Amino acid sequence: MKKILMIGTGGTIASLPSENGLVPQMSTKELLEKVPSLKEIAEIEAIQLLNIDSTNITPVHWILMAETIRTNYDAYDGFVITHGTDTMAYTAAGLSYLIQNSRKPIVITGAQIPLAEENSDAARNLRDAVLYAADENSRGIQVVFSGSVILSTRVRKNYTKRFDAFYSVNFPEIARITNGHILRYMEPSLDGETRFYHDLNTNVGLLKLVPGLKSDVLRFLLETYDGIVIESFGSGGIPAYYDYFNEIVTATEKGKTVVMTTQVPNEGSDISLYEVGNRIKKTAGLLESYDMTSEACLAKLMWVLSVTKDSAEIKRLFYTPVAHDLLRSEAE
Ligand code: ASP
Repeated sequence: MKKILMIGTGGTIASLPSENGLVPQMSTKELLEKVPSLKEIAEIEAIQLLNIDSTNITPVHWILMAETIRTNYDAYDGFVITHGTDTMAYTAAGLSYLIQNSRKPIVITGAQIPLAEENSDAARNLRDAVLYAADENSRGIQVVFSGSVILSTRVRKNYTKRFDAFYSVNFPEIARITNGHILRYMEPSLDGETRFYHDLNTNVGLLKLVPGLKSDVLRFLLETYDGIVIESFGSGGIPAYYDYFNEIVTATEKGKTVVMTTQVPNEGSDISLYEVGNRIKKTAGLLESYDMTSEACLAKLMWVLSVTKDSAEIKRLFYTPVAHDLLRSEAE
């Protein structure tokens, strides 16, 4: 039997009612005891790393999760992280850059309804996650949820309540799990040795543009952070009103990194297409998301800025695909 380490971090799956709404309270051991059939799939040991709502998860917790996996890496065949769904996609993205080319499967799962409640999706998700983590052919990092197996660099929460809460952005699901059977559509490729990184530059932020937004907000972020991701409109661009153009040019001249992505859920950015994007991209050397998710852009920027401060190297690393996060390459 394969040996799996289950790492509990909290979320709805572990929540119980309180006077003020749901609060994570069940331990990882209690989760395991509530689903005895898990023992038939693998030998499972549990660690209680955190027990918090994922609204309270920060990039420092991503580093803690990666370190926990690193220190236990040789002792187990696979890892299952139980996590709140609200920021699961961000954690998945963060772990994608902290742990690269893992030969062993690392699976993140959770639930829309607490395990302790009737009609919960938690037991199914736990069974599927353990099944996938214990399977000989699994590797890399993925979210397993409601039968979908989604790459950690591609996942996004799409529904607040429905069981099939997550979808794969600009990339197919890599497998489906139905009635305990894994149907694989693709094998995630590996680009090198398994590598753990120990740090992220957490001084990175994201700004969503809305019509009429004052550029003071952008100036504040550019002064405060080392890198920012701007979620712009459509294919990508900045408004001609207020002082967006000069704010960005001044900041990039000072060595700040600006990445532009889009609020549109699918198909990614294409900044050079319109004048509103083309001019600022050429003048300020903006990086763009192309088909990467906003979650992946944010986490990748944190990773890249922890590795280098050199602008040519930042660009090279940002556009180097990691775990299938980017299909389209920078061909300019
Ligand atoms: N608020 C919860 C969390 O993210 C929601 C969930 O787990 O479904 O921790």
